[in-house]
Amino acid sequence: MIHNFYAGPSIISAALLEEAATQIISRDELLSVIEISHRSKRFGDIVDELHHLTRELLALNDDHEVCYLQGGGRQQFFQIPQNFSQVFKTNYYVDTGNWANGAMKEARFFGNTEELASSKENGYRHIPNWKDDPEDAAYIYTCTNNTIYGTQFFETPKTNSHLVADMSSDLFGISRDFNAYGLFYAATQKNAGTAGACLVVVDKKMFNKPEGSVPTMIDYRTHINKKSLYNTPPVFAFVMSLLVLKWIKEKGGITYFDAANREKASLLYGELERNELFEPYANKEDRSVMNAVFTAKNEQIEKHFLDRAAKENIVGIKGHRNIGGFRASMYNALPIESVQVLVDVMQEFERTQG
Ligand SMILES: *Cc1c(COP(=O)(O)O)cnc(C)c1O
Repeated sequence: MIHNFYAGPSIISAALLEEAATQIISRDELLSVIEISHRSKRFGDIVDELHHLTRELLALNDDHEVCYLQGGGRQQFFQIPQNFSQVFKTNYYVDTGNWANGAMKEARFFGNTEELASSKENGYRHIPNWKDDPEDAAYIYTCTNNTIYGTQFFETPKTNSHLVADMSSDLFGISRDFNAYGLFYAATQKNAGTAGACLVVVDKKMFNKPEGSVPTMIDYRTHINKKSLYNTPPVFAFVMSLLVLKWIKEKGGITYFDAANREKASLLYGELERNELFEPYANKEDRSVMNAVFTAKNEQIEKHFLDRAAKENIVGIKGHRNIGGFRASMYNALPIESVQVLVDVMQEFERTQG
């Protein structure tokens, strides 16, 4: 068994991969689902179910609309400000690392953009607070789980403005009040399928520009009105997302994964606090349950530990180039047994190297 800790694209349950293979090869009326018109009833049913299940798992209210788009996460960096910037308002960003920071840069193309808070000064080890709720906000942008630095918002920020969130790396992995958000999105390659699509949920109250004033492909209303079928969608990615969402529901929904993910995270962070050779990167109260970032106290041993881990079929734990060290991503499909194997290797490594 391979223990897949990759940050993204990331682990998908083996049973689902088999199911996907069967579905792709299975030729209803002699054709595969990915070689027929996206306007066919057969594909339309897949998209309907995908939307329906998304709403159900997230417990969305009637104000919130769902669409699946292309362009991955980064398209949202510009699509959000292009839809929602306003002349006499400001786009506010909470800078919690590369992802939020990259989004803030793109927003400057479309309107007045300011940093509301940042944790840059301590290397993004925590989720920053901010004092006043700005009155002139077009929206306040956050990234709920910072995949690179391993920090996570556990509380929904309180604001009277529209709250926007990049949930690419924790959607479907942790419980939240999703209706509190004006817009949130997740590229599908972490907990929601494979690469190629991006789920966007928008509160209708966000829209303030006349239709036709934003390019058709960029206007979220185009995709909402056409139920994610305005143009040819990434059909395979949609099929995968539906499989993954059905599996999430079968297991017990987000509540189930919230508990399972916290258990995996506490097993690993517990060891990181105990083990003499390693230390967790982020401040305790903001440590991500999805991506645990850690370093070796002595950098010299990092290469040895990677080699040792590789011998146990642990893959994907090399840290992001910004921080070095290690990152163990523990998405929904990663079993706790894999985390236990990692912990065992750390303990053995401490005995032999220490
Ligand atoms: C993975 C990830 C993305 C994905 O962006 P792509 O453009 O699809 O590569 C965006 N935001 C966060 C926080 C992520 O972890």
